[in-house]
Amino acid sequence: MKRFILFGAPGSGKGTMGELIQRDFGYAKISTGDILRAEIERGSADGLRARSFMEDGGLVPDELVIELVRQRLERGDLDGGYVMDGYPRTLVQAEALTAVPSESERAIFLEVSEAEAIRRLQARLTCRECGAIYHRENKPPRQAGVCDVCGGAVEPRADDAAAAVRRRFRVYARRTLPVIRYYEHRQVLARVDGNGTAASVYERIRELIS
Ligand code: ADP
Ligand code: ZN
Repeated sequence: MKRFILFGAPGSGKGTMGELIQRDFGYAKISTGDILRAEIERGSADGLRARSFMEDGGLVPDELVIELVRQRLERGDLDGGYVMDGYPRTLVQAEALTAVPSESERAIFLEVSEAEAIRRLQARLTCRECGAIYHRENKPPRQAGVCDVCGGAVEPRADDAAAAVRRRFRVYARRTLPVIRYYEHRQVLARVDGNGTAASVYERIRELIS
């Protein structure tokens, strides 16, 4: 089983690149943000617990996220490989993931300027049902407010509001940059220029992966 890990600030394009990798290579995409939002939609106890942390841009407690990822990995259907989007975000999560064996492991760090990332978050719309990602101008859904993929409601994410975005950047710098250094030390990290169109960024990633 091959493991790919996508790193980058909020708005760097992890989710979009994960979708493209999934489509092209057939690897499963595991997004902890999507898993958590699905728990909230279902109204589960885990979702209830996660909700307040997410809405104000903080991190959901490690022990909860680690357990949800464990359950996802156990379910199988990983098609020979998987791409992690949004996990690990803390050193404790990184240690937990390292304990899960994999045939190979590569981490990809999408580097974008903070100004560009903020512009993208302000233009971002997502599907509440399936997590598909849209852009107000560059990639609107075919029918306004309706997901092309599943027909679900397409809207801005609650945590893309300005105050939560500022908090997410602070949390990213404090908690996740050390995780990126952890993978750098393990010599599995590649840096990719995340500026430009989704297609041009994806081309850089595709070359790295194939
Ligand atoms: P982004 O990368 O754009 O911030 P995500 O969808 O990956 O968006 O995450 C949204 C929110 O979900 C985070 O701000 C955090 O509250 C929570 N979350 C997602 N993944 C994790 C994780 N690995 N550990 C803790 N919280 C997480
Ligand atoms: Zn959808």
